[in-house]
Amino acid sequence: MRVLNYIGGKLVEPVSKKYLPNHQPSTGMVYGEVPDSNNEDLELALISAKSAQKDWENTPAEQKFKVLNAIADLIDVHREKFALAESKDQGKPVWLARNEMIRSAQNFRFFATTAMQFSSESHAMENKAINYTLRQSIGVVGCISPWNLPLYLFSWKIAPALAAGNAVIAKPSEFTPVTAFLLSEICIEAGLPAGVLNIVHGLGPKVGQSMVEHPGIKAISFTGGTTTGKHLAATAAPMFKKLSLELGGKNPNIIFADADINKAIKTTVNASFMNQGEICLCGSRLLVHASIYEEVKAKLVDEVLKLKIGDPSNDENRIGAIVSEPHYKKVLSYLEIAKNEGGVFLTGGEAVFPEGFEKGWYIAPTIIEGLPLQCRTNQEEIFGPVISIMKFETDQEALELANGTEYGLAATVWTSNLNRAHTLAAALDFGIVWVNCWLLRDLRTPFGGKKSSGVGREGGLEAMRFFTEPKNVCIAF
Ligand code: NAD
Repeated sequence: MRVLNYIGGKLVEPVSKKYLPNHQPSTGMVYGEVPDSNNEDLELALISAKSAQKDWENTPAEQKFKVLNAIADLIDVHREKFALAESKDQGKPVWLARNEMIRSAQNFRFFATTAMQFSSESHAMENKAINYTLRQSIGVVGCISPWNLPLYLFSWKIAPALAAGNAVIAKPSEFTPVTAFLLSEICIEAGLPAGVLNIVHGLGPKVGQSMVEHPGIKAISFTGGTTTGKHLAATAAPMFKKLSLELGGKNPNIIFADADINKAIKTTVNASFMNQGEICLCGSRLLVHASIYEEVKAKLVDEVLKLKIGDPSNDENRIGAIVSEPHYKKVLSYLEIAKNEGGVFLTGGEAVFPEGFEKGWYIAPTIIEGLPLQCRTNQEEIFGPVISIMKFETDQEALELANGTEYGLAATVWTSNLNRAHTLAAALDFGIVWVNCWLLRDLRTPFGGKKSSGVGREGGLEAMRFFTEPKNVCIAF
């Protein structure tokens, strides 16, 4: 399949006519190509975005609502096609991709209604004056997204950017471009005005970097790795470009002795290994109270050994393929690091070669124990089907272990003690805390991390605030 750029309302080849190979992770084979876009493509996208932006900003909210809703409806109509494409492109099981397509449509539907509801504040000064805040569109904004939840995260950025009246230049990951391409077809069908959304495919350090450097793009919403995020921030800072950075995590999943252990284990299997562990919110550090450590360990190992790995199109398989060869090698290198650090492997620890898919990139779900907090396995984001399990004695120790990395994205706490839940929720140094659940998402809530996990928040009004500039108008009486 040949992916094309979406510029000026049309599907177009890159100016250079150069393409990059696109691989199918489950087989390791090249099955398509993606534009290797450069500055010339970006300039065309900018011209088209600039010419469309003011009209889009001034389009009545109800019309914006209708178009964004139409995009959502079309994703629903084509859900199976999208899910199959996402699974083939990313390596995730199709059953999981189906859920992500539902959520991608919801992202558009949610921000369609937000376009209708978004309002600003006014501040009256007794008898002197009234202030009101204009929330104006920024202009042309950039959205850059990663490969782990391709359309889900792409739509999570584009939908609010459009709802807020901006024209968008978006770049999906070069590893997973296909559903963004299918989305561009849908945007045409839904009647999104030409130039309002432009999708430019290609390499991060090439066309992605140019987007961040370009003074014509006034804000960048980025989701990806922490190292890339640091580089982006350094590039954008001298231009005082508005930035939202959703970065990596090393999330703790804490189980106390008073928890509903069976429920905690059931959810922990998902929180550890869903999407091959390639979700920024996955709990990669399992912290268990010493009194239940052996029980939790035994039950968890039991459950994880039941997880079937292989062909993502087979609904019986819970674990699919790792997204790319470089990432596969990176995860395997962390297994070596864990071995050298003295980690004990309770499950997995190696690549898997399912019958008929021997050339694909599969790694067995891996549970490691016996490592201290201060080691690379417990400090660095692996972003694969690998968790480390540690025990604690006191609440204070659990908190110190949980907070003891450079990351601060999401933490999960399992307890039936209300006091403990509230105390920890307040003390955990993370942007998101789940108590007795994981990945339970209300799209109105602020989403994002602290420390090296990012700057800014997405979701609901936070996203609308990011994609608008507030201007105070003070009118004296
Ligand atoms: P990545 O940083 O390599 O790439 C992300 C995107 O940035 C891609 O589109 C890539 O092409 C682009 N990019 C790369 N270099 C660039 C540059 N110099 N300038 C501009 N754009 C550039 O990340 P990835 O490997 O695709 O994704 C995995 C990472 O994303 C993990 O660290 C994961 O934790 C993180 N992530 C975070 C969240 C969150 O919400 N916090 C969600 C999902 C993934």
